Amino acid sequence: MRRVVFLLASGAVVVGLAWWLAAMPGDVTLRMAGLTIETRTGLALLGAVVLLLVVLLVLRFGLALVNIPAAIRRWLARRRRERGDAAVAQALVALAAADIPAARGAASRARDLLGDTAQTLLLDAEANRMAGREGEAAALYHRMESRPDAAFLGLRGLFRQAMAREDWTEAAALARRADATRPGAGWLRDERMALAVRIGDWSEAAKLATTAQPRLGFATAAAEAVVDPDRALSLARRAWKDDRGFTPAALAYATRLRQAGREAKALSVLADAWADSPHPALADLALATTADKLARIAAATRLTIGAVQHPETHLLLARLTLDAGLTGEARRHLQAARAGGLHQRRVWLLVADLEAAEHGSTEAGQRAQRDALHAAATAEPDPAWQCDSCGAAHPHWHPACPECRSAAGLRWGGRKRLALGSA
Ligand SMILES: [Zn+2]
Repeated sequence: MRRVVFLLASGAVVVGLAWWLAAMPGDVTLRMAGLTIETRTGLALLGAVVLLLVVLLVLRFGLALVNIPAAIRRWLARRRRERGDAAVAQALVALAAADIPAARGAASRARDLLGDTAQTLLLDAEANRMAGREGEAAALYHRMESRPDAAFLGLRGLFRQAMAREDWTEAAALARRADATRPGAGWLRDERMALAVRIGDWSEAAKLATTAQPRLGFATAAAEAVVDPDRALSLARRAWKDDRGFTPAALAYATRLRQAGREAKALSVLADAWADSPHPALADLALATTADKLARIAAATRLTIGAVQHPETHLLLARLTLDAGLTGEARRHLQAARAGGLHQRRVWLLVADLEAAEHGSTEAGQRAQRDALHAAATAEPDPAWQCDSCGAAHPHWHPACPECRSAAGLRWGGRKRLALGSA
């Protein structure tokens, strides 16, 4: 409505101006190349205005004609870019859907339309890699590595390929180059840690770990792996100080202390660890140098002084007292262990041993042994080192799960309902 009013008003102004010009008094005489034009002043002015408008229109039309090729080029380029962007989106969707032929087709189209950019090269490389064409993918990653804007992406692709074919030397070299290109990249840190775990470079893994649990495990494994006794002792001490209840660290430190002739300190470290998280391996190490059966009971009593009522303490003392022929004490400790929540296979096997030692081959003794062995067969499994990631159980501790290579850490405990002191 406002526009209609504006047009009507403009038309009225133009008509008014034209009428005013036409009605202007006076004459104008124009002589040019022997030609004489005489007219009224108003009409002359009106003619001049019309002539000016015509000249402007002609100039504008001429300029538009001159610009037509450039405009066509711009339109074609825009259209090409739009089609290229669409091909990039199609390639991304096909890669996400693992539609390999579609991904390769779209990536190739994107390269044709947009040229070799970091994005199109990466898409083509990933599509080739997904199709199992590792050689073609590697060639594309190398091309990316030579471009400043895509060097990290190229090295990342080459690193992943090296890891997949377990070429650790090449992977380590590529990781160093990628780190130089983009220092401190989070992805690279995780991958370098995974590489260190795969090759057993625990010192490097400990440096790269960002959370406390795997770092402690790696530091312990590094201390175990070092040959130089002084350095090993120092590393083991550092790991143990981080968590005095972490059984593997206490075992590593106590072992190095014993090797250094510091037996009292070694036993004190093991006793501290037992007070925090009782574990049979602590007792094995503490008693390893003691052969006499009564002396072993005394040593175990000193070891377990910080967790006297713990079921694991009772189980240890039951085994040692039974070994020394003190069946009454053994029975008392076994009952205490069961009352404390231990119902695992190892407990019932010890009950069977106790019945055999105490009642020998009597009928009642044999029946009690059979009952205990039956209970052992259906009891909860013995505790083990369990992987937080895949759930696999291992009899011995490892800094990373041997099954799934996860660095999340192994946790000591029962494998069903019961959870003993976790390490
Ligand atoms: Zn695992």
